[in-house]
Amino acid sequence: MSTEVTKIEEFLPLYDEVAKCGKCGFCQPTCPVYRATGKESYVARGKNALFRNLIEGETVMEADLKEAFENCLLCRACTANCFPAVKTDQLVVAFRESYAQRFGRSTIQRWIFRNFLPYPDRMARVIGLAWLSKRMGMADLAKKMGIVGMINPKLETAMELRDEVPASFLRDRTKNTDLTAKGESKYKVGYWVSCGYNYMLPEVGEATINVLRHNGADVEVLGNNCCGLPVYGYGDVEGARNLAKKNIDVLGDLDQYDYIVSECGSCSGHLKEYAELLAADPEYSVRAERLLSKVRSFSELLVEIDAEKPQGEIQASVTYHDPCHMTTRYQGVVTQPRELIKNVPGVEFREMTESDWCCGAAGSYNIMHNDVSMKVLERKMGNVAKTEAEIVVTECPSCIMQLSLGAKRQGMENTKVMNVSQLLDESYRQADN
Ligand code: SF4
Ligand code: SF4
Repeated sequence: MSTEVTKIEEFLPLYDEVAKCGKCGFCQPTCPVYRATGKESYVARGKNALFRNLIEGETVMEADLKEAFENCLLCRACTANCFPAVKTDQLVVAFRESYAQRFGRSTIQRWIFRNFLPYPDRMARVIGLAWLSKRMGMADLAKKMGIVGMINPKLETAMELRDEVPASFLRDRTKNTDLTAKGESKYKVGYWVSCGYNYMLPEVGEATINVLRHNGADVEVLGNNCCGLPVYGYGDVEGARNLAKKNIDVLGDLDQYDYIVSECGSCSGHLKEYAELLAADPEYSVRAERLLSKVRSFSELLVEIDAEKPQGEIQASVTYHDPCHMTTRYQGVVTQPRELIKNVPGVEFREMTESDWCCGAAGSYNIMHNDVSMKVLERKMGNVAKTEAEIVVTECPSCIMQLSLGAKRQGMENTKVMNVSQLLDESYRQADN
């Protein structure tokens, strides 16, 4: 591994940010990765010290550092609990970008970011083949024979995240389907298709669209690409900017929509940050600001439009897990999902301790750093168990899959995990029957 002993020039503009760290250590108890590992280099204080040494030319950029900066969920819990609010997540992304520029990316990562995520047709073909092989038992056979592990041990972890294979993608399910408002038409809503729901959990998207239509929305399924958050998180900031611009182009004239909505907290959160990402671009920053004025997370929109209270009874105890991107650390959509859940007749809401503590999914962190991710998940599932709730509601596909895996691993087979839109849809449907 080659190393570099000179100052990292592109980090200089971040010096003031990193210098704000007073080394107090208040970030320690709030960092899920630190709490799971006890490693100082994984917590904000440790990362900031390493980053400062890089800027001052006192340390070299090498593999050990990569490990420290790879081990971050970008959950922003450290920043939220830091008196000077050091933006450690931004320093982490800057490191990842710089490291990849110096030492390159793995071939698979390069291929995924540049040739896969920006092309929904290609994604649909490749993921369709993967699901087909799983449906035919070939993937399980390959796993049992150790072939999957030989190709890449991470694949085994990825396959564990979803037991049932969806019969079709959300985009296909919504084609040639009536998506107009049920009853009086009040809003035109552009439905943002998140990769997680499209390819992994299409039933969630169907529930979301039903609830929107129930509340007077004429829904249009948008032709968007991946929002770009995974690309950004891995430090491919240029790739993330390109995806953001491509999406803004695909959405076209935003005046045709009253709202753009997503029931994926990561997508809605990242769309709201396009303006910051494209701030240096005179044309796209203006268009990104316009998008920002239209984007709502699902719960946020339903409360804003004063959605019809569901009437169907669901006799169940329910708790809520705040996805990181819905918390005050990102979008600040915290009260709305709780309000919606409590409005469902029959539901007994039980608040969870550390409800906004990351579940450890963090995009593909659970695949790339499975051991740490599972320790973070154990803590979350312990808190879920303490509520003794029958249903865990959330608003993010990664969280749904991670919490479902946690329930399976902890022997909590009777604990259902669902999106807030599914809970509402179930109640509306019961009332309609
Ligand atoms: S990152 Fe913030 S909370 Fe952590 S040691 Fe530095 S100043 Fe303290
Ligand atoms: S963003 Fe989250 S995981 Fe990363 S250092 Fe801060 S608290 Fe830890």
